[in-house]
Amino acid sequence: MQYRVEPGTRVDLSRWDPDDVAGTDREAAREEKKQLSRRLRELQELLYAEHRHRLLVVLQAMDTGGKDGTIRKVFDRTNPQGVKVASFKRPTERELAHDYLWRVHPHVPGDGEIGIFNRSHYEDVLVVRVHDLVPKTRWQRRYDHIVAFEKLLADEGTTIVKFYLHISKDEQKRRLQARLDRPDKHWKFSIGDLKERALWDDYMAAYEAALSNTSTDWAPWFIIPANHKWYRNLVISRILVDTLEGLGMQYPPAEEGLDEVVIP
Ligand code: AMP
Ligand code: MG
Repeated sequence: MQYRVEPGTRVDLSRWDPDDVAGTDREAAREEKKQLSRRLRELQELLYAEHRHRLLVVLQAMDTGGKDGTIRKVFDRTNPQGVKVASFKRPTERELAHDYLWRVHPHVPGDGEIGIFNRSHYEDVLVVRVHDLVPKTRWQRRYDHIVAFEKLLADEGTTIVKFYLHISKDEQKRRLQARLDRPDKHWKFSIGDLKERALWDDYMAAYEAALSNTSTDWAPWFIIPANHKWYRNLVISRILVDTLEGLGMQYPPAEEGLDEVVIP
C-alpha cells in the first residue's frame, strides 16, 4: 500500500515529501473523503455488531503535526460509543514507577472497538531518547519490546495501523505562528514546544529509528504526507477503510424465527 514502511527497510525521512498530494485534485478529494467517511461509519458499525475484531490506530507526529485534527476529521461520522481515544501525556509519578507499557495496555481496544492512541508508547523511544530521560541502554531495548507487545496484541485479535504524520519544519513554523496569532488557540501553544522545535533534527533521527525498527507485517507504519490537511485526512481514511474491508466482517446471524415475529 502507498506510504507503507516495508518491514526491514531503513527510513530516510528527507526522502519522504511532506507536501506530496500525488496529483490529487482538491475538489475530487473532498467528494472522495465524504464517501470514505460514510463507508468508515458503516464499517465501524459492522465491527461493533460483529464484536470479533479490534482495531488500534496509533498517531504520532511532531507538535502541530495534526493528530487532533485527524481524529476530528477522519472519524467525523463514526459512533462515539465504539471509538475510544487515549491521549498519552507526560507520565505521572505513578506511571513512571512502572514499566513504560504499564499505562498503555489498559487502553487497547476490546472486541468491536476502535482504539485511537493520540501519542503512544512510541514516546518512550522518541521524547525519551531525544532528552535522555533514561539511559541509552534502556531505550535501545525498547524497540524489541514494542515489536513483541504489538505482536501479542495482533496474535490475540487486534489489527494495528500506525500513522506518522509527516510535516516539514517550515510548516510547523506556520502552524505555531497561526496559534500565536489567534487568542482562541493560545491554549494549544506551549512555549516548551519551541524547545522541542529546536531539537527537530534529533527528533527526525529518533523517528527514523522508530519507523525503521518497528514497522512489521502485524503493525505497519505509514508515513503520511501531512503538510496539506485535506490530503492527510484523505489518505488516512483510505487506509482505514481498506484495512477494515480486508477483515471480511459479517453481521452476526439473526435469531432463529425472526421472519415470523409479529410485534404485538
Ligand atoms: P500534547 O500532545 O501537546 O498534549 O503534549 C503531550 C506532551 O507529553 C508531549 O510533549 C509529549 O512529548 C509528552 N509525553 C508523552 N509521553 C511521554 C513520555 N512517555 N515521556 C515523556 N514525555 C511524554
Ligand atoms: Mg502540544
